[in-house]
Amino acid sequence: MKRSCEYDAAVIGSGPNGLAAAITLAGRGLKVVVVEAASTAGGAARTEELTLSGFRHDIGSAVFPMAAASPFFSSLPLSRFGLEWIKPPVQMAHPFDDGRAALLKTSVTDSSLTLEGDEKAYAKLIQPMVDRFNGLRDYLLGARRFPQNPLPLTNFGLKALSSAEYLSMSHFKGASARGFFAGAAAHSILPLNKTPSAAFGLVLCTTGHAVGWPIPVGGAGSISLSLSRHFASLGGTLITGHKVNSFTDLPDATALFFDTAPRHLLRIYGERLPTGYKRSLRNYRYGPGVFKLDWALSGPIPWKAEGCNQAGAVHIGGTFSEIAEAEFSAWHGRLHSRPFVILAQPSLFDSSRAPSGRHTAWAYCHVPNGCSYDMTEAIESQIERFAPGFKSLILQRHASAPADLEAGNPNLVGGDIVGGAQTLKQILCRPACSLTPYTTPLRNVYLCSASTPPGAGVHGMCGSHAASVHLKRLGI
Ligand SMILES: Cc1cc2nc3c(=O)[nH]c(=O)nc-3n(C[C@H](O)[C@H](O)[C@H](O)COP(=O)(O)OP(=O)(O)OC[C@H]3O[C@@H](n4cnc5c(N)ncnc54)[C@H](O)[C@@H]3O)c2cc1C
Repeated sequence: MKRSCEYDAAVIGSGPNGLAAAITLAGRGLKVVVVEAASTAGGAARTEELTLSGFRHDIGSAVFPMAAASPFFSSLPLSRFGLEWIKPPVQMAHPFDDGRAALLKTSVTDSSLTLEGDEKAYAKLIQPMVDRFNGLRDYLLGARRFPQNPLPLTNFGLKALSSAEYLSMSHFKGASARGFFAGAAAHSILPLNKTPSAAFGLVLCTTGHAVGWPIPVGGAGSISLSLSRHFASLGGTLITGHKVNSFTDLPDATALFFDTAPRHLLRIYGERLPTGYKRSLRNYRYGPGVFKLDWALSGPIPWKAEGCNQAGAVHIGGTFSEIAEAEFSAWHGRLHSRPFVILAQPSLFDSSRAPSGRHTAWAYCHVPNGCSYDMTEAIESQIERFAPGFKSLILQRHASAPADLEAGNPNLVGGDIVGGAQTLKQILCRPACSLTPYTTPLRNVYLCSASTPPGAGVHGMCGSHAASVHLKRLGI
């Protein structure tokens, strides 16, 4: 006789993808439990007082273009559960040493104003993608890496498959547009002469114009709180403070969804997995790590360039060659004295993040995987370069090296924040080459983290796709 399990499904890990899987399953009437190692739900989408009382910092993600684009997020009534978005006037600013900044605003032509003669080239490159954003989004956030109808994607695909270096050198004449594009492309955490680093620049610029790079009121934790509340309203159970270390720790459930790094699935199932799949998980490559800083500040960052104080996110690194050198170093296991820094300044737009008149800032740079070097001075000097007086505003700082990030969230292997290197191979085969990358060779065992398509970012699509595969199998 078949034994019935306590739950229809258990999700291991409560990051955005774990919660998305759980909501998708519970929404179709399944009895679902989410088991989370940390004391609160949300994974890399949580907000805590890391420095001083009243200063609320995002411990992981801070700016959310992918959540704004996500069909899963827009299908949920999250505003009913407290989620409220803010769209800063400037989505992203990229300051230069001469005191100017290139600004990514909603309109493509507006954002190009400071691109020194490359305005038309930028618009020609980006506007067609903005115009076809819905089709592009459905592919980028879809479950299939090989589209059924590739024709509408031809324009994007040919350019996306190149390196950021090739794309910017072939499309732009001046240093401004090249530097601006390098900053967006560096989110790939790939060397900028490596394909498909251009894809990340194209996607982030296009998304910025099409839907913005919004931030939630109260920080990333508000996203997870609203997802958790929605899950609870569907009758779901959340257990925190329980790390699944081995097969015997697994909840009693018919189906298991792992919002974990592939190596944790491997550790938990070990010899139960067939050799080929085990080899794929073992060979899955993690990329560079990050060194992250959060600050409590006595005032807003005194940017030299106009417009930076209107931006939710600021890319600090100046020229294409400087950013390219920094990213090349991190990829090849070396440190760079002038790292490329990604900074967010949410308290400029959300007064709930800091006491009146005070501010928070969040920033990180890429470093070799597992690197233990303290990058505080290098990051702060880079900011000071474009915002003289920044250091004097620091009331308190909180630093997280790769090992600290991984200690707080085991998915951040060696400080890799994107669930595995974003090489072309690992974009197409994530975590292994398969038409159904969410399934594993074990019956009713799924992987649903950012190490599956469509990959990193707070969008919940990996979880939602994995759950949909299971529901389809059940005929629901
Ligand atoms: C510093 C940083 C900055 C980032 N910036 C951005 C950004 O600005 N915008 C953006 O869109 N994305 C950003 N990201 C990436 C984004 O946060 C991730 O891609 C996203 O959170 C992935 O979601 P996930 O559900 O796959 O995994 P995670 O969010 O990593 O959650 C996984 C959860 O599973 C739990 N878990 C793992 N193993 C076990 C186990 N064995 N037992 C129990 N629980 C377990 C972990 O504790 C964790 O809570 C950033 C990430 C970091 C770390």
